[in-house]
Amino acid sequence: MEADKTCSRCGRTITWRKKWVTCWAEVRYCSDGCRKKKPGAHGACIETTILELLAKRVAGASICPSEVAREMWPDAWQERMEETRQAARRLVAANQLEITQNGKAVDPSTAKGPIRLRLVKHHLNQSHARRAD
Ligand SMILES: [Zn+2]
Repeated sequence: MEADKTCSRCGRTITWRKKWVTCWAEVRYCSDGCRKKKPGAHGACIETTILELLAKRVAGASICPSEVAREMWPDAWQERMEETRQAARRLVAANQLEITQNGKAVDPSTAKGPIRLRLVKHHLNQSHARRAD
């Protein structure tokens, strides 16, 4: 039994399965759908835009994913919402972002309904923290 990991495409949790016993290190995607999709050309841009928008807000403030999508695609932001949520989930997996509902951090893999995005509070401290070996 190995620790769960996160899909490189959609950012959802991948739960270890017995069929992956010999190749778990190589598993990167949660599903065939995620494996077949080409990596989004805008993926990294969306992640950067999320972090930039949040950097302009007061500490602890949150934004709606639609603000990110509108910033990047003012005329077609609705079509880009899932792509934007996927980028947000990847940032959660990278420990840079929290996905919240009613002000509380939620599991991005299972959250249903409107979500908001917030920088992880200890992010700054953590990046400067020295590892205690
Ligand atoms: Zn996936």
